[in-house]
Amino acid sequence: MNTLDHKPEQQSRSIFVYSDEMSRFDFGPDHPFMPERAIKTYDLCNRYGVLNHPWMSILEPEFLDEALLTLFHKPSYIDMLKRASRGEVELGMLAHGLGTEDNPLLPGIFEWSLKASGGTRAALQSIIQGDATVVFNPLGGFHHAMPDHAEGFCYINDIVIAIKDALSKSPDTKIAYVDLDAHHGNGVQHAFYSDPSVFFFSIHETGRALYPWSGYETEIGEGDGLGFTVNIPLEPGADDEVYDLVLENALFPLLKAFSPSIIVAQLGADTLVSDPLTHLKLTNNAYQKAVKGILDICPRIMGLGGGGYDLYRTARCWTLAWAIMNRVEPTDEYAGLVGGMMFGPEMEVGSLYDHPYRSKGDIKEKALQEAKRIANHIREEIFPVHGLS
Ligand SMILES: [Zn+2]
Repeated sequence: MNTLDHKPEQQSRSIFVYSDEMSRFDFGPDHPFMPERAIKTYDLCNRYGVLNHPWMSILEPEFLDEALLTLFHKPSYIDMLKRASRGEVELGMLAHGLGTEDNPLLPGIFEWSLKASGGTRAALQSIIQGDATVVFNPLGGFHHAMPDHAEGFCYINDIVIAIKDALSKSPDTKIAYVDLDAHHGNGVQHAFYSDPSVFFFSIHETGRALYPWSGYETEIGEGDGLGFTVNIPLEPGADDEVYDLVLENALFPLLKAFSPSIIVAQLGADTLVSDPLTHLKLTNNAYQKAVKGILDICPRIMGLGGGGYDLYRTARCWTLAWAIMNRVEPTDEYAGLVGGMMFGPEMEVGSLYDHPYRSKGDIKEKALQEAKRIANHIREEIFPVHGLS
């Protein structure tokens, strides 16, 4: 495939994974994770006319074949999660992350997670089999789930399972995983830390300031996978300018050198300046630049949801991501008619785009200097592994 050809292929299809029922699943009134973001994204995509092109289709997720769960998770954890999902409570569950504030015992969470994973797996398979070029599952992206425990709002790691399943069927597929979520993609890193067939990138807020307290630039893979894990931690207060620096000097050149056949992108939107859980200060302009840059390197892409705790701005961000992946321009079909009422009181009617934001003073200076240091570190440690200088 000519990865320099930016136009969608003639026969290419795009798949948007969506379930109204799944989007209504409730993590509880005090929990920040809101599946409702998918409804808002779906509505906003329709309002902006980016979901009605003839090459696009909606895929309703189905349950993942349970046998695939053991591609990553321990059978004993899966059984425990099933019992928790049925309403059974055991003391031992806490040791496996079940029943914590982050991962409460929610009735039906096993089935819900199984469907989210089924959506991600089916979406990736559609690319592998040549049925689609672009897929997006806003109900997926659970990058923190570990083999034997839940954490960070994640119970089943849909991403690792889908990638491992794809590689077992098509071992020659070169997959790059790019994690834009504000939190380090620790579960996915864990799965592929010594595996060079998946190039893992995570750009996130530094583990010195934010859960999961990992993802340092010194974590670069091991064994055969040495140099195939790249972590780019950012200081609190990092803004679009800081982000741009690491995209241009670390992510884009390494992705180009690796030349993946498929990119799996976790598009968590909790990096935005308005996000209540993190301290990064991005606007969706930086986010657009990242998605455009990734797409220019590899047109076959699976986008996934993830974090994003400002409901409306997350929906805006993902609507833009979908539009960019499909190379269509969003146009407000109902300008001035339903804006503020439907999509939040603070929303600028008729625009999906954020106003620029710049951090200032010592915070900005520190974030910039640290990003330069990290980029240099990556240039020294990782570039040579991939034939770059
Ligand atoms: Zn996150």
